[in-house]
Amino acid sequence: MASILEQDIKYLKGVGPARAKILGEELKVYTVRDLLFYFPIKHIDRSEILSVRDLSEDMPYVQLKGQIVDISEEGTKGRRRLRAVFTDGTGYVELVWFSAVKRIHESLKIGTPYLLLGKPGVFGGHISISHPELDKAENAESLRKLGLQPVYSLSERLKKNGFTSRVMNTLMRNAFDLIAGRTIEETLPPYLIAQHHLLPLGEALRKLHFPTSSDEIPAALRRVKFEELFYLQLDILRYAKNRRLSIKGFPFKKVGTLFNDFYNEHLPFSLTRAQQRVVRELWTDMKSGGQMNRLLQGDVGSGKTMVALMACLLAIDNGFQACIMAPTEILAEQHLATITSLLKGMPLRTELLTGIVKGKSRREVLEGIADGSIHILVGTHALIEPNVSFLNLGLCVIDEQHRFGVKQRAKLWQKNTQPPHILVMTATPIPRTLAMTVYGDLDVSVIDEMPPGRKPVKTLHYYEENIVKLFEGVRYQLRLGRQVYFVFPLIAESESLDLQNLEEGYVHICNAFADYSVGKVHGRMRPSEKEEAMRAFLAKETQILVSTTVIEVGVNVPNASVMVIENAERFGLAQLHQLRGRVGRGADQSYYILVTKRELSNDTRRRMGIMVETTDGFRIAEEDMRLRGPGDLEGTQQSGMPFDLHVANILRDSTLMEEARRVAADVLEKDPLEENPKNTILWRELRRLKKNQTNFSSIS
Ligand code: ADP
Ligand code: MG
Repeated sequence: MASILEQDIKYLKGVGPARAKILGEELKVYTVRDLLFYFPIKHIDRSEILSVRDLSEDMPYVQLKGQIVDISEEGTKGRRRLRAVFTDGTGYVELVWFSAVKRIHESLKIGTPYLLLGKPGVFGGHISISHPELDKAENAESLRKLGLQPVYSLSERLKKNGFTSRVMNTLMRNAFDLIAGRTIEETLPPYLIAQHHLLPLGEALRKLHFPTSSDEIPAALRRVKFEELFYLQLDILRYAKNRRLSIKGFPFKKVGTLFNDFYNEHLPFSLTRAQQRVVRELWTDMKSGGQMNRLLQGDVGSGKTMVALMACLLAIDNGFQACIMAPTEILAEQHLATITSLLKGMPLRTELLTGIVKGKSRREVLEGIADGSIHILVGTHALIEPNVSFLNLGLCVIDEQHRFGVKQRAKLWQKNTQPPHILVMTATPIPRTLAMTVYGDLDVSVIDEMPPGRKPVKTLHYYEENIVKLFEGVRYQLRLGRQVYFVFPLIAESESLDLQNLEEGYVHICNAFADYSVGKVHGRMRPSEKEEAMRAFLAKETQILVSTTVIEVGVNVPNASVMVIENAERFGLAQLHQLRGRVGRGADQSYYILVTKRELSNDTRRRMGIMVETTDGFRIAEEDMRLRGPGDLEGTQQSGMPFDLHVANILRDSTLMEEARRVAADVLEKDPLEENPKNTILWRELRRLKKNQTNFSSIS
């Protein structure tokens, strides 16, 4: 049986070498098995025909019956499109094609009755359907017999080469014919299938590709999603377990003079209980003889940097070097500044390594790392480049990093004869499902307490036209001796316009607060100018700082108790939350003021409302995900995972993911030596999946 599933797709009836090549390149479908695991993205009921007049943009795929009354080609060469007007007597819809324009134009006939399948959208105020599938209406009867028709996601190239959902469906049928009468070999052990009420694999595949009613689909989907999530979790948890068993870490046995001196003489405040607890957790890991792999979660301003620094001191006390890796150059620079000032007077060398450290200074840093004279290296991704070699790296701290998954972390291991301890820190509360995937192999510590004496920041929402009133409030705070940030958006796509906005704002603010000094900082300034502007603000030489989001991370000016966000509608929730973390760092009541125009979309109004309502980072993160939707997450966040998910969705299937994780953990616990025969199937399937995974990534 396995041999049939593994059969090269080109021998399947209806495929052949040319189609096989495209299937492989576009869909990574190489075998019959791959084909059967290429699932439809949705199913459409072909027995239902709607009227044009009832269409709305929020409808999924719809089927219409009518004729084309007008066709035209538009646009210039290279950007041509085809437009057609379609009617069924109850109204008109526009059809649009952006590719294969010539071929489609030739195939369409005015006046011929068509059956149309497509997804309605709104374009220029009216309903429009792009790239519909059209069939001669005389085929309607045979289409109706198809009942629920699966829709497969197909790339432009596939479409150009004649692949349609129907062609895919025919290939699926041929594949099922090929294996007819035999059962498809299971990829999960029978006891798991029974315990978790899953459909057998063959039945699930059949119901996904050829459902007889829509009721069959949920259970079939659940089976394939569960399987995917289960193997993902099994891999992550097994990896973490094997790592714990097989990899020795550097034991940091002693708490030495550096740590003690710092703690007793340099610490500018006492640690919160949460910070103390986390330092203990880190030390317990680092002295254990195992390798630490820990995620530290703590909201903006909770004091993660201090904890990281103390872990670095433990490393140095035990004869090792430490590095701190930040996602941006500015954040790296700010970390370096903070750490250097905290360590002032101690016999330690701390240096920066980022993309902009070049020439002689770069060589000196690289030398210092190699000869061990640099104790703490702060930098960006530049730190993990192969030419950076440490004399004896013992700890790596990764700050505020989201897409730094298992694979990337493993790269750090090569930086010493044994892997260094790893601490990943994040201020953005991570939704549970993400934590279970990207960080699924890590132990977790949480700083759940803010340093004392902080008053919660008051957040206010102002409309632009009330700026005079807003300025009065700002003036009052300035008179009390406080400092103020004005933050302007700066987005790469509209950079010059944004900079102009900021410059105009700057002039306006200078005029409005003529009796105060106003500084300015944005990403386009030279590093020395930026530094000078920040220094002047910190030294209270300027009372107002007009800036872009370069101050988003890291900056620490406790006397700055007011932040005004201009064009707040252009910021995302996560960013607004990060920015708010820059105020409320001192004992004074702080204010965070969002300025927007009056007309706002519902989403924006909701975003502003959430910011005004809560300072809880977890709530904000959840709302952020809800508003931005899963698409955003899929593209950007999955990249840190060991496997790509094809059917399951990291957001929508969180409950199933938790179940899969529990089951995987249970399997590993009950069968630690992987010798129970009832699980054989499971290790074999995991190996197969991992093997394919590597093949895929080396092809693409
Ligand atoms: P984050 O967790 O956002 O990285 P930081 O490490 O930047 O937070 O700390 C935020 C601010 O709080 C800094 O100014 C830091 O010096 C200060 N801080 C940290 N820990 C304490 C503490 N225990 N008591 C008082 N202030 C603290
Ligand atoms: Mg920080």
